[in-house]
Amino acid sequence: MDRATIDRVLDVLVARRIRTLDLTGGAPELNPHFRDLVAQARSRGAHVIDRCNLTILFEPGQEDLAGFLAGQQVEVVASLPCYLEDNVDRQRGAGVFDRSIRALQQLNALGYGRDERLPLTLVYNPQGPSLPPPQQALEADYRRFLGERFGIVFTRLFALANMPIARFGSTLVSKGQFREYMGKLRAAHRPENVGQVMCRTLVSVDWQGFLYDCDFNQMLGLHLHETGQRHGRLHLDDWLEMDLDGNPIVVADHCYGCTAGQGSSCGGALA
Ligand code: SF4
Repeated sequence: MDRATIDRVLDVLVARRIRTLDLTGGAPELNPHFRDLVAQARSRGAHVIDRCNLTILFEPGQEDLAGFLAGQQVEVVASLPCYLEDNVDRQRGAGVFDRSIRALQQLNALGYGRDERLPLTLVYNPQGPSLPPPQQALEADYRRFLGERFGIVFTRLFALANMPIARFGSTLVSKGQFREYMGKLRAAHRPENVGQVMCRTLVSVDWQGFLYDCDFNQMLGLHLHETGQRHGRLHLDDWLEMDLDGNPIVVADHCYGCTAGQGSSCGGALA
């Protein structure tokens, strides 16, 4: 995301009275404007979330990143797909578990997970084509294991379902498991979750400033359209001019990943 688009994000933040700026990417911290965006959003009163992959804290030039995040009271949401080393390293690469543990200890030392102004959320996702186990029980397991073994504390755990799209979707296709997994999501559909899906309250912005109903739709290239329009792509510039309240949400089969029992949104399991 270039500087001009980042400035547009800040304009929209003020004009539309956005309360939370949730930053994600491969590693949003590597954007040269990341720290300025965070500081400016905080000075405008927004709560800022950094979806952090933890290992970024050990990249050259990022030695002071954890201190910066704490100083700005940025909420950290960090992926730790399991509390067992083998499972994490198999999914993320050799040594990732060890670096993630050291990063969590560094964040704890700064007050993350202990001070209520510095929330630290961990994110779990299943290894294969199954729905995550109940979030509460899993959180208790994480808490016990990480606490006893490494002295790590955290605020809460999100258990996220794997969406049948992007890399996970193509792995399912290549293993002949796509239809079976979609069937599992459909069978677990809970109408009561429809009222809680994140696209009702969130707008996802891509690196060029185009808008989507959520990150999953962004990955699929399903742009947010103006009411009554099926074509055209809404941009931050449009959002400055128009209110998106009540704008229809673009849905497709992958949405069963959100509405399934034990399905999820970026804010963890719904029901
Ligand atoms: S995948 Fe569908 S239901 Fe889930 S947040 Fe996106 S648009 Fe909403």
